[in-house]
Amino acid sequence: MVIRTPPRTTPRRVPALGLLASIRPEALAAPESGIVELFNYGRGREGLIPLWIGEGDLPTPAFVHDAITRSLEAGETFYSPQRGLPDLRAAIARYMTTTYDAPFSGAGEFTTDRFSVTVGGMHALHLAIRLVAGSGDEVLIPTPSWPNFAGALATVGAHPVDVPLHIELGTNGENRWALDPAAVAAAINPNTRALIINSPANPTGWTATRAELEGLLAIARHHGLWIIADEIYGRIVFEGRRAPSFHDVMAEDDRILFVQTLSKNWSMTGLRVGWLEAPPELGATIETLIQYSTSGVPAPIQRGATIALETGDHFLALQVKRFRESRDVLCAALKATGRVHFALPPATFYLFCDIEGEPDTRALARRLVDEAGVGVAPGTAFGPGGESFLRLCFARNPASVAEAAQRLSAWLTAARA
Ligand code: PMP
Repeated sequence: MVIRTPPRTTPRRVPALGLLASIRPEALAAPESGIVELFNYGRGREGLIPLWIGEGDLPTPAFVHDAITRSLEAGETFYSPQRGLPDLRAAIARYMTTTYDAPFSGAGEFTTDRFSVTVGGMHALHLAIRLVAGSGDEVLIPTPSWPNFAGALATVGAHPVDVPLHIELGTNGENRWALDPAAVAAAINPNTRALIINSPANPTGWTATRAELEGLLAIARHHGLWIIADEIYGRIVFEGRRAPSFHDVMAEDDRILFVQTLSKNWSMTGLRVGWLEAPPELGATIETLIQYSTSGVPAPIQRGATIALETGDHFLALQVKRFRESRDVLCAALKATGRVHFALPPATFYLFCDIEGEPDTRALARRLVDEAGVGVAPGTAFGPGGESFLRLCFARNPASVAEAAQRLSAWLTAARA
C-alpha cells in the first residue's frame, strides 16, 4: 500500500491577501510540526515531565564544554574552512573507521574527503535533499517517520511518499517494526528520485536488519535512486556496539548520502554540529552549498565536536546504559496497564506505543499534559499509520521516567474504569 502524503498536520492557513500570499508556495508547504504544536501547548506547565522532545536531560559533558571555551579564549572566532576544520574532519574519519571499519567492502579506512561538517544533522539532511531532489520529485519515506523528512522535502518543492512500516514477530520472539521491500518497489514511479532510510528510526525504533538494508540497496540500484541514510541513532543500541549500516553492504559506486550528528550521542543538541558523508566526487559541490547556506560551523563548536569524537566514548556508553534502564522501567509499567501495545525498541530513545481505545492521540496528548502532567508527542505528528500511537522519549534519568510511567499508568487505568 502506498500513500501519497498530504501535509502531516494542519497546513498553515494562507490568507487570500497579505504578505503570506505573496511568498513562494514551497515556504508554506511544510506543515507545522505536530510535536512543536503540543510543546507550545504545554510549555512551562509546572511539574510536567517532558517526554515529547528528542533530547536527553544530561548537560553537555565538561570535556566538550572546556574545548569550546579554550577555542573561544584562543580567538577562534573567524571564518573557517567551509567543509570543516581539518582536525575535525580527520577525527570524523578516524571515528568512522573505528565504528564501521570501512566505507564499503574492500575499501581501506574512511578518508576525510568523504565528510563535510554541517550545522547539526538537520543541515546535513537539507544538503542531502538539495543534492538529489527538487520541484516535483518524489522521495520515499518508511512511515511512521520523523516529520522533518517530509517537512524538509516540502521546502524544496519535492513530494514525500510514505511507505508503511509494519509490526511483525522478530526472530527473538519480540515484536519488531519491519519494512516490506515489495511495498517500497511498488511506490516507485518515474518521478521517484530517492529513499530516506532512517535506521535506527525515530519514532518507531525500527532497526533495519542487514538483509533489509541489502534489499533496499538492491531496489535503489535497480531504479538508479539515491539513498539518504540517516543513521544518527546507530550507536544508541541496547545490544551490540552499533546497528547495521549501509556501510556494511554498500559498494564504492553506490549512491548513498549519510546524515550524522553529534547532538544525541554527546548531549549537544543546542550546539548544532554534525556531518554529511558523500562520495568524494561531490565534495566541491557540497562545499558551495555550504558556502551559500550557512558558510560553515563556528570553529569553537567544531573543537568541542573533535574532542567528543576522539575521547567521548565513555560518555556515550553512560548515556546508553541510562537509556536502557529508563526504557525498561517505562515499558514494564505501561505493559502492566494492559492498554498499551508496542514493539520493544532495540535502539534509539523513543517508545512508540499504541494506546487501546484512544484513536485521536492529538487530543489524548493534550489531556495527558493537563491531567497526568506528562508531555508526550502525538502519533499524528509522524504521518499515516501513527495516528493511534504516542511517542515517549525516555532519554531522562530513570527515576524521572519511572515517575512519568507511574503517572501515565494511573491515568490510563483510571480513564478505563
Ligand atoms: N535525524 C533524526 C532521525 C532525528 O531524530 C534528528 C533530531 N531529532 C535529526 C536527524 C537532527 O539532528 P540535529 O539536532 O543534529 O539537527
